[in-house]
Amino acid sequence: MASVTLKSIYKRYAGGVTAVSDFNLDIQDKEFVILVGPSGCGKSTTLRMIAGLEEISEGELFIGDKLVNDVAPKDRDIAMVFQNYALYPHMTVYENMAFGLKLRKTPKDEIKRRVDEAARILDIEHLLDRKPKALSGGQRQRVALGRAIVREPKVFLLDEPLSNLDAKLRAQMRTELAKLHIRLGTTFIYVTHDQTEAMTMGDRIVVMKDGFIQQVDTPQNLYDKP
Ligand code: ADP
Ligand code: ADP
Repeated sequence: MASVTLKSIYKRYAGGVTAVSDFNLDIQDKEFVILVGPSGCGKSTTLRMIAGLEEISEGELFIGDKLVNDVAPKDRDIAMVFQNYALYPHMTVYENMAFGLKLRKTPKDEIKRRVDEAARILDIEHLLDRKPKALSGGQRQRVALGRAIVREPKVFLLDEPLSNLDAKLRAQMRTELAKLHIRLGTTFIYVTHDQTEAMTMGDRIVVMKDGFIQQVDTPQNLYDKP
């Protein structure tokens, strides 16, 4: 079970910026939720708090029915995909995908099983021996997704994962991510400033402005009465 519940969450940065204010949201298990809004509205901060990369100033965060405010990122059953793929340049695709599991002392045959399966899902089996510099932008993005998939998390956090891709590839990856969400059967929380991405991918859209939630609704309802 991997619902995500945010109760009256606030983030106040040192220096006086309140990046997120009174954020309340119940994300269902297996739901695909999109946080959308202009640059600086608090999307990234919200995602980073869910990941445990940023401390919560006030409020309660639950993953499943567990209060996780003070739980370390590695113990949260989540995986995060960033917009700058952050691949290790000296490692092959296989090693990039295996690295996190190796750190966790996952047995070698289990690592191989998971990497092979993720590579099959993402259609990058033929790239496993390459270094990142020998990959296209879209291929790099797949490897970044692969690194998250091999961890088999219950919740995926995606921070503008497509914004470094050209328009054509972005459109293609939108469709693929929607399929991936269904195939994995996990909760997706996805941050973007791109309205089209928001309207075409999620089950529900959370519109943010100046750190507050402005609207929460299905794409259809937002489209009918924006
Ligand atoms: P978004 O992801 O919607 O672009 P962010 O969550 O990155 O927004 O930022 C929200 C607000 O918090 C902005 O005003 C930003 O300048 C501020 N902010 C973000 N990170 C920090 C930080 N580490 N220290 C201080 N202020 C920050
Ligand atoms: P080590 O260097 O400690 O042996 P590696 O991470 O290089 O560890 O490899 C771990 C396992 O993954 C090995 O059993 C290897 O056969 C397998 N492996 C490494 N690269 C690939 C690849 N491109 N395709 C399939 N299996 C691989």
